[in-house]
Amino acid sequence: MAKRPKPVHQLTAAQFEMMFPDEEACKAYLVARRWPEGVRCPRCGNPAVYDLPSRKWHWQCEKCAPDGYRFSHIAGTIFENTNKPLRAWFKVAHLMLVSKKDMSALQIMRYMGFGSYKTAWLMCHKIRTALVEDIEQLGGIVEVDETFVGGKMSNRHKDKRGGKRGGGGIIGSGKTAVVGAVKRKGNVVARVIENVRASTLTAFVHEAVSHKVSLLCTDQWTGYKRLGKEYPHATVDHRKEEYVVGAVQTQTIEGFWSLIKRGCVGTFHKVSKKYLHLYVAEFQFRYNNRHNADIFGTAIEGC
Ligand SMILES: [Zn+2]
Repeated sequence: MAKRPKPVHQLTAAQFEMMFPDEEACKAYLVARRWPEGVRCPRCGNPAVYDLPSRKWHWQCEKCAPDGYRFSHIAGTIFENTNKPLRAWFKVAHLMLVSKKDMSALQIMRYMGFGSYKTAWLMCHKIRTALVEDIEQLGGIVEVDETFVGGKMSNRHKDKRGGKRGGGGIIGSGKTAVVGAVKRKGNVVARVIENVRASTLTAFVHEAVSHKVSLLCTDQWTGYKRLGKEYPHATVDHRKEEYVVGAVQTQTIEGFWSLIKRGCVGTFHKVSKKYLHLYVAEFQFRYNNRHNADIFGTAIEGC
C-alpha cells in the first residue's frame, strides 16, 4: 500500500506560542469562540449583558436572577472550578489533538510539569468529554465493522466474536467491543457496545447509517446478515481471505481500528472500560477533523 502523505497540522508549537503568549490572549480567544456574536448569558441566553467594571472578563445578566447573575468567560465550560490557568488547558488540548495516537495523562503530566498525575488525568478526561460529537447519519459507501479493545495479551487470539451468539468472546477476556461505521473519504461514527449480537449491531447501523446509503460493506459475521433486508448490503469473506471485492471492502474502518489500538495499547496501556467511550469519542473527533485546519478552535468551542 502506498504511504499517505502526512497530514499537516495547522497549529504548530511555534504558532501556539504566537497565538497564546499569555493568559489574556487565551481569555480573549475563548470569548471570541464561545460568543462570536457578542457575550450572552450562559444561563438564559440573554445577549443584553453588562460588563462588570470592577472585574475584567466578568459580566452580569439581569434577566435570569433578581439580583443579577454574574458570570465569567469560563462559566459553564470545562475550565470552570480549576486552579489551572486557561493557557495550561489550551496547551493540554493542543497536545492531545496534534498527536496521532493521543498522549497519556502520564506524558501530559511530565511535559507540562504538573505535580500530580490526577490533575493531568482530570484535565485530559474533561477535554475528552468536550470532544463527544453529534454526527449526522452516514451516506455514500459505508463500511461497518466491530473490534475488541483491551484485555489480556493471552486472549488476543481467541475467536473475537465468541461463537454464534456473539457474546462469549467478551465475557472473561477483559475485552470490550466497539462498533464503527465509516463513510469512505468521510466521517466515522464509533460506539462502545455490550456485545456483537445482531440486535446490537443492527440498532447501531440504524442510528449511524442513512437508509439512502449507496453501499453498505461488512464482513460475513452473522450479526450483519439481516442488514440486507434494509440496505444495499455486500460482504467480504475474510475466512476465504477475501479482503477487497470491487468496491466491497472494510479497510477504511480497519484503519481506524488500528489507530485506536495503537493508541489504547501503546499509549494508554490499559483503558478502563468505564472510560473507553471517551477515548473512542476522542479518536472519532480527531479522525473527523483530520482535514480541519481549525481543529483546535473546533475543540475549544465544544469545551
Ligand atoms: Zn441570564
